[in-house]
Amino acid sequence: MTRTIKDSQGRVLDYLRLSITDRCNLRCLYCMPGDGVEWRPHGDMLSFEEFLRLCRILGGLGIRKIKVTGGEPLVRRGCATLIAALKSLPGIEQVTLTTNGFLLEEELPRLAAAGLDGINISLDTLDEETFRRLTRRSGVDKVLRALRAALEAGIPVKVNCVPLRGINEKELPDLAALARDQPVAVRFIELMPLGRAVKLDPLTGGETAAALEGRFGKLTPWKGRLGNGPARYYVPSGFTGTLGFIDPVSQSFCGSCNRLRLTSQGRLKPCLAEDLDLDLRTPLRGGASDDDLAEAILNLAARKPGGHHFLTGGGTPGQPQEMFRIGG
Ligand code: SAM
Ligand code: SF4
Repeated sequence: MTRTIKDSQGRVLDYLRLSITDRCNLRCLYCMPGDGVEWRPHGDMLSFEEFLRLCRILGGLGIRKIKVTGGEPLVRRGCATLIAALKSLPGIEQVTLTTNGFLLEEELPRLAAAGLDGINISLDTLDEETFRRLTRRSGVDKVLRALRAALEAGIPVKVNCVPLRGINEKELPDLAALARDQPVAVRFIELMPLGRAVKLDPLTGGETAAALEGRFGKLTPWKGRLGNGPARYYVPSGFTGTLGFIDPVSQSFCGSCNRLRLTSQGRLKPCLAEDLDLDLRTPLRGGASDDDLAEAILNLAARKPGGHHFLTGGGTPGQPQEMFRIGG
């Protein structure tokens, strides 16, 4: 019998975001401090065997899709090997990766051989100076080369961009044009007020859409089904790819959220915006059985919060939640 994980509101949780490291080779303004990051000891991070054991249990309970994330997942050696192993777990139908693209070009052959089902590349700018300001590192050309190489390798690619007033605002139509010229989905994601992101001034999805309409004309929603997440898609005429909008703040999609998150330290989180989590590493290393772990997972999943309160100032906006530690 196929099992499903349900929370107390009846939402089916079949999607896991799996953070395999909290380390990163960039220092994006909205995600990490510029320096002085306190790394947790390596031993605090789950080993690949430990991730696989938990993912096998989660696959048995009802998780069907896994997104490997971080920190930057490609800084953890052997990421492609882990992906191949995740792909072979019973119940797991899709394994994809979210990356900043910096190390992607050289890893592509191994990722393709592992059977990776898709890549999300985070790219907020095409301009080297803005890239340096935003990520505090140089090398946007490396990311653009990796994007072309991933498309040539035949792996479905999505580009994720966070629109920020006064930073990449003027470039948004140029970023969207990547989807005009290449078969990629370019998605604009509203910045969530978590951690250091509260210091920045994000554009809403509506403001971004207006900026794009100035260049590409009226955007009419695509009626067919594209993707299986919360993005709304558009296919302007003359586009090879698609444009998407993900508006977690202005158009909360918490009511249909299907996600669980597992951090690199082995904490299971049912919601990005709340403190609630469960330490699975201690029982995992302390001899707990699969049944014990499964029961703990189901109990936590049932308590998934109903939604965030970013707009009303309630909940946890601005609390020191750190995307690179939770897994974005
Ligand atoms: N390092 C990888 C990357 O950049 O794609 C994976 C981890 S990163 C935390 C995942 C995604 O989270 C990135 O696309 C980043 O832009 C996004 N992100 C980080 N902080 C965010 C925030 N406060 N609101 C919305 N998206 C955020
Ligand atoms: Fe690193 Fe991704 Fe955070 Fe940027 S958004 S600092 S690339 S984890």
